[in-house]
Amino acid sequence: MKLSNRAYNIQASPIRKLMPYANEARKQGKKVYQLNIGQPDIETPQVMIDAYRNYNEKVLSYGPSQGLDEYRKGLLGYYQGLGIENLAVDDIIVTIAGTEAIVLALYVVCNPGDEIIIPEPFYTNYNGFATMTDIVVKPVTTFAENGFAIPKREEIEKAITSKTKAIMLCNPGNPTGTVYTKDELAEIVDLAKKHDLFVIADEVYREFVYDGLKHTSILDFKDAAERTIVVDSVSKRYSACGARIGCIVSRNKDLMAAVLKFAQARLCPPTVDQLAANACFQLGDDYFQQVNQEYRERRDLVYAELQKNPDIVCTKPGGAFYLLPKFPIKDAEKFIIWLLTEFDLDGETVMGAPGEGFYATPGIGKDEIRLAYVLNKEALKKAMHILLTGLEKYRSIE
Ligand code: PLP
Repeated sequence: MKLSNRAYNIQASPIRKLMPYANEARKQGKKVYQLNIGQPDIETPQVMIDAYRNYNEKVLSYGPSQGLDEYRKGLLGYYQGLGIENLAVDDIIVTIAGTEAIVLALYVVCNPGDEIIIPEPFYTNYNGFATMTDIVVKPVTTFAENGFAIPKREEIEKAITSKTKAIMLCNPGNPTGTVYTKDELAEIVDLAKKHDLFVIADEVYREFVYDGLKHTSILDFKDAAERTIVVDSVSKRYSACGARIGCIVSRNKDLMAAVLKFAQARLCPPTVDQLAANACFQLGDDYFQQVNQEYRERRDLVYAELQKNPDIVCTKPGGAFYLLPKFPIKDAEKFIIWLLTEFDLDGETVMGAPGEGFYATPGIGKDEIRLAYVLNKEALKKAMHILLTGLEKYRSIE
């Protein structure tokens, strides 16, 4: 029996596929510093944990497909607090994490075979979502040398065909950490208007911008309300990746009516997790200030370590919690496997995610490794020392 084409085409996650090597290294007694996955070690806020503990209904029932009213109202307040105006509760549908929000956005915007333009490297699971929905990703390549700056308008325009339905952005970027300016986003919105496209913005790292940068939401472009869609999540915002709560936001009424029908087909998002996410609206600005400072210090540390090797190409990213340096090696995946199987420094080694899987264009990103600064500074310092020591040894034998 044959499986579907989708089943054969779906890619293994580059973030997770080398895990068996890490597990084996651990079995052999090695300590592995995991910088491959965006699973922060920051504690989930106590108010959220308490909300889980305090749930005491007798029946854990289905909720509304669009999400619990109280949580949607809380979300509206949250977006208004960010300065996003002219938004209504019905412009927000709660989803089963950011992942479902992205898939729903693709379902309502594209027919099978349609194309979406995404600057690459991009969050690797976009490839998987495109396979699930039979959509073609048209990548526009960005480069480590200039901090993965958004491609020039002409470059994006060249990729537009009669099948293009949307431009999709991740801001701040995973895996790049790049933060797009308001002017850069205005160019994208303008292009979308010219070619009648949607703009889907993945803003799950919105809170994590550094060096005085200000995050601009695509929802800020009120004159493009019909074509802008935000996909969002609590996973990173509250260091609550297991909560599986996200949302999709758009002022386009027809689009949201269609999203709701898809949402009805999957019944509802998880009830208790919405209540727990709702409790997080009690957190003050100081919560984000603290977390933000911690991530900034970690970024500075990792960046400073990388700077010690002049053969590594890396510009300092302004947001999220990733860096994607270019290493002076041919094949980052082989290097990572080598670090896990053949190398250690006093019984310790390190793991990153090979860059290639974050691109849709075959063969590029082979010398890049995504590093997630999701460990405390002491652990990061050790991990970086191991990585750079391993790099020197590996270069002499590659
Ligand atoms: N979007 C981006 C850019 C991400 O990095 C991730 C997770 O790493 C997601 C979406 C998925 O988030 P969620 O856990 O809400 O599904």
